[in-house]
Amino acid sequence: MQFIDLAAQQARIAPRLAEAMRQVLAEGRYIGGPQVAELEQRLAAYVGRRFCIACASGTDALILPLLAMGVGPGDAVFVPDFTFFATAEAVAAVGAVPVFVDVRPDTYNMDPDDLRRKIEAVRAAGDLTPRAVIPVDLFGQPADYTALLPLAAQYGLRVIEDAAQGFGGTWQGRKACAFGDVSATSFFPAKPLGCYGDGGAMFTDDPALDALLRSLRVHGSDPADKYNNLRVGRNSRLDTLQAAVLLCKLEVFNDELAARHAAAARYDQLLGPLAGIPAVAPGATSSYAQYTLRLPQPARRPAVIAALREQGVPAMVYYPRPLHAQTAFAGAPDYGPCPAAEAAAAAVLSVPMHPYLTPADQTAVRHALAAALA
Ligand SMILES: *Cc1c(COP(=O)(O)O)cnc(C)c1O
Repeated sequence: MQFIDLAAQQARIAPRLAEAMRQVLAEGRYIGGPQVAELEQRLAAYVGRRFCIACASGTDALILPLLAMGVGPGDAVFVPDFTFFATAEAVAAVGAVPVFVDVRPDTYNMDPDDLRRKIEAVRAAGDLTPRAVIPVDLFGQPADYTALLPLAAQYGLRVIEDAAQGFGGTWQGRKACAFGDVSATSFFPAKPLGCYGDGGAMFTDDPALDALLRSLRVHGSDPADKYNNLRVGRNSRLDTLQAAVLLCKLEVFNDELAARHAAAARYDQLLGPLAGIPAVAPGATSSYAQYTLRLPQPARRPAVIAALREQGVPAMVYYPRPLHAQTAFAGAPDYGPCPAAEAAAAAVLSVPMHPYLTPADQTAVRHALAAALA
């Protein structure tokens, strides 16, 4: 059993994929080929945004908006304490300070009440300027934008949605990648929409931000004069081959999403009696980038993982360490504890999830988990 079965997906789209890649090679426009613009149009239409700007990775899709907003040294950017490292790394990469916000104990997404507390703590300390917040759509479920967006507006914070895992999820009828000033997603192969290398994209409805992000991704270029540079940017393009791959995958994406939902519903039934199953908020849907269980006895997690692997079931821990406990952030200022993030990091366990998971695989996971927990 695979944790994420990319080979099954590849077999399904193989003829289309081969033709699309052959076409890129025949055209020879490896950077900036027409497939990139086509992909940007399709992705913007899919998520319901005016603009999509493809780039080199999900990490860059977080860094470029921070640069575009002028976030840097002396600024505080609020990030959830329980997420992949890159969410906070992007903040530190532009010289700003990541401030860790606790998560809700059920969805593991940013807790709006703790966001308010942490903003107030930063204001009271008076050494940093609160500038932006980066909610994460963890494991595929959008964060609570109904609560977070008004709070950000109240404190004058810019919002960057980290939808690296969220592409395909929805919140109150709107798709992930449609929230905040800019949304960022990743096309790392294991994400819900993945390419065959690194890639990412940014989304916005603001024409000025769109222009700035397009310039920043190519060395701060001047759209009117290729050899004039308006500002210092980066080299962060999505290459044409990856865009061609993503166009093929986008064709089957909705079908795959339905398969993920069906697999999650089966898991809920099978695994619910054994462990905590993912909590999806009312009015939300998840793209199930991960199907993450909460173990009743966290201390036994290493033994449970070993027992599952022995029975041929791969299991992973996303994430074993909250961000505030990362060595790289050892010197970061402390604006208060994140107990729910710590508890989640100690208790979670992700099991195989992908659109090609069979009911037989899922029954095998149930038997293996029951035996491992016994
Ligand atoms: C994967 C991921 C990223 C980074 O994406 P890359 O394409 O690997 O750079 C950022 N944030 C979250 C939440 C992620 O899961």
